Amino acid sequence: MRTGTLAGSPATRRLLALAAVVALGAAGVMAQQNRDAVVVQSLHVQGNIWMLVGAGGNVTLSVGKDGVLVVDTQFADMSDRIIAEIRKIAGDRPIRYIVNTHAHGDHVGGNQAIAAAGAQIVAGNFAGQINFRTGGGNPAFIVAHENTLRHFEQPLQGESPAFEAWPTDVFFGRQKDFYFNGEPVVLLHQPNAHTDGDLFVHFRGSDVVATGDAYVNSSFPNLDVARGGSIQGYLAALNNLLDLMVPLDKQEAGTYAIPGHGRLADEADVLEFRDMVTIVRDRVQALIDQGMTEDQVVAARPARDYEGPYGNPENFIRRTYAGLKGS
Ligand SMILES: [Zn+2]
Repeated sequence: MRTGTLAGSPATRRLLALAAVVALGAAGVMAQQNRDAVVVQSLHVQGNIWMLVGAGGNVTLSVGKDGVLVVDTQFADMSDRIIAEIRKIAGDRPIRYIVNTHAHGDHVGGNQAIAAAGAQIVAGNFAGQINFRTGGGNPAFIVAHENTLRHFEQPLQGESPAFEAWPTDVFFGRQKDFYFNGEPVVLLHQPNAHTDGDLFVHFRGSDVVATGDAYVNSSFPNLDVARGGSIQGYLAALNNLLDLMVPLDKQEAGTYAIPGHGRLADEADVLEFRDMVTIVRDRVQALIDQGMTEDQVVAARPARDYEGPYGNPENFIRRTYAGLKGS
């Protein structure tokens, strides 16, 4: 949201407070050893949907009569705090589904513990049934795109996550949808954006989209080229997100987007970010057309006027350069 135009309303004060918490969360990612002090905070967005902020990617909850659906799970060592916050909001309603927007550790680290705290709805299940994978309990389903499952199988660095953390329910193609808590939940694959497995999770009744890292607003885009990310796909995803969003009065509020990192956003925020990414891409292209090398483009600082809000653009510029040179 553009805070200047909303300043003063109670909602804005809540959101500004949350933005401060988000900043703390981002600091937590950088100093991974210091996550002990991170407090998980929650914000009711609208309808069934809540936003949880701690360390790592933002978590989205749908809470209602069918139980709890969790989009992304932060780091493993945040799980107890995430589960405690879910219990505070949802009481003892069962955690039925986890959706992973992509495979990065700051979004899937809590899969195992949070799934284990949940319960599937499957015909024939009963209390105490032994789960074939875990040997005990009856964990929640973990839903993801099949490309995300591939990244669990072939991690680029570090160890492969425990088998219990892997997605149990994957799909290929453009979308998967189901009804949960009285509204359609639509998983929309965004090919080759932040990675090649990115999902938008669109809660169609509550009018909220959880975007994973295919939209962030606390930094420049992180294009994970090694896992299939690209500048072209990232811009396509931002345009797809804008297509899903409808603003309310004076272009404020209406549909909300919960970004992978950063603060709750309405359409005007996403528009501003999409324009920034487009402008920087065009400047990099213009410098390429002048015959500049990658290092020369970085030195020319084509994102200089956006470094204030979004930080160091070097990785973004290098990956944009590589993507444009290759196309
Ligand atoms: Zn990520």
